[in-house]
Amino acid sequence: MHPSLIDFDQTPFVAIWETTRACNLACRHCRAEAISNPLPGELATREGFRLLEDLAAMGTPICVLSGGDPAKRSDLCHLVCHGSRLGMRMATIPAATPLLTRSLVKRLKDAGLAQMALSLDGPTAEIHDTFRGVPGAFNITLQGARYAGEVELPLQINTTFSAYNWEHFEAMAELVRQLEVVFWEVFFLVPMGRGSQLGQMTAQQFEILFAKLASFAHSVDFIVKATEAPHYRRYLIQHHNQSADSTLSVRPPGSLSHHLPPHMTRDFGPGGSIGLAPKGVNSGNGHLFIDYQGDIYPSGFLPVSCGNVRRDSIAQVYRFHPIFRELRTPDLLKGKCGICEFRRICGGSRARAFAMTGDYLEEEPFCLYEPKHHSSLD
Ligand code: SF4
Repeated sequence: MHPSLIDFDQTPFVAIWETTRACNLACRHCRAEAISNPLPGELATREGFRLLEDLAAMGTPICVLSGGDPAKRSDLCHLVCHGSRLGMRMATIPAATPLLTRSLVKRLKDAGLAQMALSLDGPTAEIHDTFRGVPGAFNITLQGARYAGEVELPLQINTTFSAYNWEHFEAMAELVRQLEVVFWEVFFLVPMGRGSQLGQMTAQQFEILFAKLASFAHSVDFIVKATEAPHYRRYLIQHHNQSADSTLSVRPPGSLSHHLPPHMTRDFGPGGSIGLAPKGVNSGNGHLFIDYQGDIYPSGFLPVSCGNVRRDSIAQVYRFHPIFRELRTPDLLKGKCGICEFRRICGGSRARAFAMTGDYLEEEPFCLYEPKHHSSLD
């Protein structure tokens, strides 16, 4: 099925499986308390195969094998191969450690990996390695990017912006441009796990970064995506179409593509790589996360367990669990998000609302926008 036809009430656009917590790094913003050895209870290969089969049966187009460091799993290439044969576009996010070898990158490519993501949070070794808390990570990441180029594996860079590094945006963007990526995923920090120690940007700084991001995205031929900042979509609509308010009032809920600039509406990137969702993805709404021991969450940044793949049907949990259903019901949102005319295509970061208030339906804590009136979308 073409991604634009996916019904998020039935099928996630992307499923992220935390294949392991094991990781030799200890990055400052990581959602997990990473450790060097696998924790007891990690899903075994056969259980992983079944999970991939269940996700494919739901029609999930994209599956990301994350961690920890997925390179710590000896069956990583087998998992990629299995998911790829089931028809999903498989991606993975290896950590910047000596396990990230040219041989591994080549084997991943041969196994059917569609895209490899690497994390890069600063334009220099000093900024990145300080952010990660790991000396040498910057150089290993650049080396991994070169390996991807050598074996012609589409490359994605993930960058998390916070108060620590957002002022380095221009230099960071230039570095990403030079790395010949197909996709730059820009994360806006969610204060959880070790990330809760980092300073957050203000709502005003979010808006400034939105402007920089939009301008940069116009100037490149790869996809630039904001994650945990759904109000970037509100920003784009406001600045692309000054009559966005009236336009929105006659559009079907959730149908966003025709509001956005052309470079924001591609389903898949150059060379068939993994690209943007055709409509806004948010926790539990087009997005699904499975942790290392099979617990099912609306997002890795929204740690509310809704079941476990060892005892529950993942399709049933995604489609019918009350928390997932609430997260797909914008009219339940509280505060200004609940009365905002953009709530169906934005809705604010549910993960950030939960991290900062304990209520995943509360208003986005860092949005500058003040709704003008109660929406006429109803
Ligand atoms: S108030 Fe909430 S729904 Fe409206 S634009 Fe801001 S974050 Fe989005």
